[in-house]
Amino acid sequence: MVIFASHTLRRSRRAGLSSPRPLGPGDSHSEEAKDVDPLPATASNSPATSTADRPAVADPAPSPIATITLTPDEEVLVQALIKRGLVTFDQVHSAQQYGLEHQRDLRQSILELNLISPELLNELAFERLTAMAQDVPEKEVPAKPQAPVPVHTVPLLPNRTQHHRDVRKELQETTLTAPLPQVVGQVLERAIDCRATDIHFDSQETGLRVRYRIDGQLQDILFVEPSMATAMLSRLKVMASLNIVERRHSQDGRISIMHHNKPRDLRVATFPTIYGEKIVIRIHEVLTAVAGFAHLGMSQEQAEVIDRLIAQPYGAVLVAGPVGAGKTSTLYNCLERINSPLRNVMTIEDPIEHRIPGVNQTQVNSQGDMGFSEGLRAMLRQDPDVVMIGEIRDEETARIGIRAALTGVLVFSTLHGSDAPSTISNLYNFGIPGYQLSSSLLAIASQRLVRKICPYCRVTFAADEKVLLGLELDPDEHRDLRLHRGLGCPACFQTGYMGRTGIFEIMMVGEELRDLIFQQIPKDVLRRVAVDLGMRTLKQSAVDKILDGATTVEEVYRVVSF
Ligand SMILES: [Zn+2]
Repeated sequence: MVIFASHTLRRSRRAGLSSPRPLGPGDSHSEEAKDVDPLPATASNSPATSTADRPAVADPAPSPIATITLTPDEEVLVQALIKRGLVTFDQVHSAQQYGLEHQRDLRQSILELNLISPELLNELAFERLTAMAQDVPEKEVPAKPQAPVPVHTVPLLPNRTQHHRDVRKELQETTLTAPLPQVVGQVLERAIDCRATDIHFDSQETGLRVRYRIDGQLQDILFVEPSMATAMLSRLKVMASLNIVERRHSQDGRISIMHHNKPRDLRVATFPTIYGEKIVIRIHEVLTAVAGFAHLGMSQEQAEVIDRLIAQPYGAVLVAGPVGAGKTSTLYNCLERINSPLRNVMTIEDPIEHRIPGVNQTQVNSQGDMGFSEGLRAMLRQDPDVVMIGEIRDEETARIGIRAALTGVLVFSTLHGSDAPSTISNLYNFGIPGYQLSSSLLAIASQRLVRKICPYCRVTFAADEKVLLGLELDPDEHRDLRLHRGLGCPACFQTGYMGRTGIFEIMMVGEELRDLIFQQIPKDVLRRVAVDLGMRTLKQSAVDKILDGATTVEEVYRVVSF
């Protein structure tokens, strides 16, 4: 859409910010104005340009703004900025000129000229989107700018306002109006909607605090008045078929609810504290359709490496990392990839998180006589081609697993270990000799999960030289680097993050490493050689995720040690 300078000026005049020389309708300049107007009225599709408004363009030096195309978005932005007195018309004008000269869009120009802060600009955008969502029917929301916009330089603003749901506010309102069973039902349902893995109900002196664990971190969700607190806890205990009178001892139970027509199983555990009971509800994560290695967060090269590895007829592929690092998802991906009617694929897990059709899955029974090692031994008598061991926790399981890998079975497993080379040390410590490891190991992957930046409140900012040095990046090479972060909004519970992605370090055991492992060479040497051979370390993979704009510097520091 082409707008006239008059259009903008007219509005700015109303806001009292236009040029200091007001022109009356009878002013003699009016007539001249029509002549010097760089764009005749017929060229405009702006219906707001009427003759009465024309004097506004009659400044002796007609501004080049009239020839600049503003997208509807930009137009609204300019109006909002001027209305609030955040910028003057002259500043907008110079931003537009700057944009023309440097091929920037208006937002970027405003930011680069430091006219207002990215935070403020983003705040405005939110208000605008909220207003649009409330006032304008969905189909009338102006289209996105058509001009090609360099993505990495633009604050990536949300455009899906309907997803912008304030769960906290919603629940707070429900507690005031709805009956208790409905409130409790909503607390459970919203938790699943928000991808929470746990719900905490903490009895406190002043009431009941409700928190969700989302992407690994607890978030305050709701505060319940003391008058309602006991009733809420009792309601949960009734739903879980627990003894509501028993408050001094911990109890375990289950709640089954339907969520979007799917049954969901919630595990409930109570625990006595000084201010009353604490209840934690664990939501069993449903690992949905396996989406592929790239979707897990692997780089193209890493995905190709894994694809090559799992095509091997036998050997061991191990995934290392702390609890909750997404190791099981990676293994399920491998299994889905190689699962076929031609192969006998068997697993022993604790618990079974995802069912794969055609795979013989077995649950470890820790109370009975079917631990990992017993189960694995029995499984190897079932003529398996592929075996997945949920976790190697003890020497016995490690020994049986590695022996199987030596004797013609493709073995997948997870184990604790900070990175790929130190996992090999852990296996030495399990009493597995170097010669066995060297001829059975195909690769060790190490994995972590980092939180992704919330798409609804994402902004960009110029990278600081200190930050670059901290990330081991060359400040000269990355002079114009812009990093991303989330400001925090209701959609992400003010954290600035939403969802998680994996970072990987994949150490392929090729000929050189095999020799070193055979000699039980210490992990530092293994690491150096692996890096020389092209292994991308966890740290490097994490930095890649920062440069891609997937996550923040702070998040990477939290998860990976530098
Ligand atoms: Zn957000």
